Amino acid sequence: MNSVNLSDLIHEADRCVKCGICLPVCPTYQLTQDEGDSPRGRISLIQALANGHLTSADTQYHLDRCLNCLACQSACPSGVQYGELIDGARATGKTGWKKRFTLKLISRQPYRRSSRAGLWLYRSSGLRALFRLIGGKRYQRLDNLIPENAKVGSWANLYPPTTTPQGRVGLFTGCVGRISDRTALDAAIKVLTRLGFEVAIPSDQGCCGALQQHAGESLEAQQMSEINIQAFKRAGLDAILFVASGCGAHLVKQSFDIPVLEITQFLNRCHWPAQIELKPLPHTVGLHTPCSLKHQLKLASEPERLLQRIPGIQLITLQQVDCCGAAGSYLLEQPAMADALRQNAIDKITPMNLQYLATSNSGCALHLAGGLREIVGKPQILQPIELIEMSLSIDA
Ligand code: SF4
Ligand code: SF4
Repeated sequence: MNSVNLSDLIHEADRCVKCGICLPVCPTYQLTQDEGDSPRGRISLIQALANGHLTSADTQYHLDRCLNCLACQSACPSGVQYGELIDGARATGKTGWKKRFTLKLISRQPYRRSSRAGLWLYRSSGLRALFRLIGGKRYQRLDNLIPENAKVGSWANLYPPTTTPQGRVGLFTGCVGRISDRTALDAAIKVLTRLGFEVAIPSDQGCCGALQQHAGESLEAQQMSEINIQAFKRAGLDAILFVASGCGAHLVKQSFDIPVLEITQFLNRCHWPAQIELKPLPHTVGLHTPCSLKHQLKLASEPERLLQRIPGIQLITLQQVDCCGAAGSYLLEQPAMADALRQNAIDKITPMNLQYLATSNSGCALHLAGGLREIVGKPQILQPIELIEMSLSIDA
């Protein structure tokens, strides 16, 4: 059972003065113009729920449509902690078996060898084409989420530095990220070892639990977090690094006894040995900032700062591109809203004729790639760390 302190929920919700300053930044309100889909409307629903005037069933429709992007929390002059409110409100209800099953599938399956073999078989045999043909539009939408460059396989437990040692860090892989972020994680290993870091990838780490936390399954999320705390503690590290901001936003709130840092944040702070030289990369790169990086981690400027080290790169920060609609499992649970938000983003991205689209979150990368799949001359989607690795690997 998840325990929710209703008086805490009421106290926090009562801090909202209903000024409406958060409405223009809320992606769902901008889409529907429905007060129930706004932060202010949702807070009113949460107040009614916590005070017993409405039930979970009454409020579920609008609360489920919230992306948990926290743009409203960043904009709120009263400092209302909307993230705590929405997680708390969701925890008062009962998560349906279908959703619990989906979350388990997403967070556990990628660690199983059989899943990786299954993915390989699906992609390399005629199965994919067959299922796309008979599965209809709904199936094709799901299939579009499988990254084109998805790699399967596992990592060694330890990667030694290739220059003078300067520390030992752990790399968090994530669940879906083990497949979708494979190239970014491999790039992180290469860059870190080139800079002199020993990189540990504890094989007993698991999913961060963010999906469970935001679905109201806080107890399960805590248990998942404890598995990671123990796994990384045993590895004896200076810091834990992550490449996916969605996972990272949840990880940084857990009780690790060492710093938990986003990869570009870490690389902006660590020492770069004098012999390390980044080679020119004369490409046009659009830099997408995931909501989790901007509103939760407050690290929006870190990827740009790091990429500016690359000579010749033409960086375009996509400030006018709002939430892409991925939002963890939202892209599966609210397909109409998720796709409408993505289309808004794609309409702004495609005329830019980008060669690369860099984003720091797996969910955003998968969702945007799904929407761009059929577009001719689409940009290649990758993570900022992959551009650093690309630049480092160019022969003089
Ligand atoms: S978290 Fe995002 S979608 Fe939800 S109410 Fe706030 S701004 Fe709107
Ligand atoms: S959440 Fe903050 S910005 Fe939004 S209506 Fe309430 S007080 Fe105003």
